[in-house]
Amino acid sequence: MALIVQKYGGTSVGNTERIRNVAKRVAAYRADGDQVVVVVSAMSGVTDGLIRLAKEITPLPSEREMDVLLATGEQQTIALTAIALQTLNVPAVSLTGAQAGIVTDGVHTKAKIQNISPAEVHRLLDEGNVVIVAGFQGQSFSGQITTLGRGGSDLTAIALAAALKADLCQIYTDVDGVYTADPRLVPNARKLPEISYDEMLELAGSGAKVMQLRSVEFAKKFDVVFEVRSSLNDHPGTIVKEETSSMEDVVVRGVSLDKNQAKLTLFGVRDEPGRAARIFRGLADANINVDMIVQNVSHEGGIRQTDISFTVDKPDLLKARQVIDGLKPEIGFKESVADESIGKVSIVGVGMRSHSGVAAKMFDTLAQAGVNIEMISTSEIKVSVVIAADKGDLAMRALHHAFLE
Ligand code: ADP
Ligand code: ASP
Ligand code: MG
Repeated sequence: MALIVQKYGGTSVGNTERIRNVAKRVAAYRADGDQVVVVVSAMSGVTDGLIRLAKEITPLPSEREMDVLLATGEQQTIALTAIALQTLNVPAVSLTGAQAGIVTDGVHTKAKIQNISPAEVHRLLDEGNVVIVAGFQGQSFSGQITTLGRGGSDLTAIALAAALKADLCQIYTDVDGVYTADPRLVPNARKLPEISYDEMLELAGSGAKVMQLRSVEFAKKFDVVFEVRSSLNDHPGTIVKEETSSMEDVVVRGVSLDKNQAKLTLFGVRDEPGRAARIFRGLADANINVDMIVQNVSHEGGIRQTDISFTVDKPDLLKARQVIDGLKPEIGFKESVADESIGKVSIVGVGMRSHSGVAAKMFDTLAQAGVNIEMISTSEIKVSVVIAADKGDLAMRALHHAFLE
């Protein structure tokens, strides 16, 4: 008898017929004698719809109330999935994140899991139930409802698999696995049979939303091997696991595009020690993640000054502007300009460690495609560039063609 954690994303539970299909799949595993814990997302579009409603009232709603609101999406699907299983005569019990013992810190909308007390889940499993847990949500030490960031149901599943010491963790989604690029944008993309945690981390951090970044961090830290596969068929998916030596033979494993970033530039910052520290301390204190940073020194009237550009997630842009404008008297910059029409394309692969000329080939390919590069950043296994948003798809296809076809 195996203990299996299965996570079903928004499209996989997007209507009642799909929920019935999920129930059938779960029932089949259980009929084979396995214990099954199911983690579900909100039905597709529900979380976005709730965010839209709040923003109709105010552009910057209270983060505590957003968590109370968004947690309702997953609460609908756990009950519907339990009802669908019960209809198949499979005993099933739904649990909210709090009921499942998921304890988080108190950072609303981006909470981190602190610990999981799985006693109740074990008790219900031992009684013969399928346990359906609401993804994306938890409860803080002080009893507040929290959520784990967009795509956070992936994290719920992986953290539960670790806490329950599950034999298998399966992430069911609307594509057959992890591809060399988003198959919806790059028709020639190929499904990967396997990928290392580090490559999946870099892809997830660069816009490949097939897995939430923090869920992959968690999987790597606790060595949770998991499979990404389709809820719509029985094809084998992609295994995400620790790197093996043969993985280095491939220079570029995948290409990704992130359209969810915005760039903020502060013009005319005085070039003195401590200015950058003050800016990024202010953003960090507001829990805003900064991705790329570029600083250019210039001279005006004999005074050295700098322009500082950085990127943040689009939903954080308004908050970032508020922080920056609040610091204006202290930092003394001339003006701040936001640019939301940017895209970030990245190439990722552990083979980059042992191959040279990868960045040069990337820049050549982009030049030939007529794509201008605005910012560059690299890690040991990734090269990312910021470009104009409307060139994103073109750039991605050109890079996929150059490195992966
Ligand atoms: P779920 O609702 O199941 O969590 P998501 O929409 O969050 O699913 O993630 C699945 C989507 O991720 C796919 O439909 C696909 O368009 C997108 N995607 C982006 N990059 C990739 C990639 N490299 N491989 C597979 N899918 C990708
Ligand atoms: N419903 C949440 C979202 O749309 C969490 C998830 O789907 O994983 O981001
Ligand atoms: Mg997702």
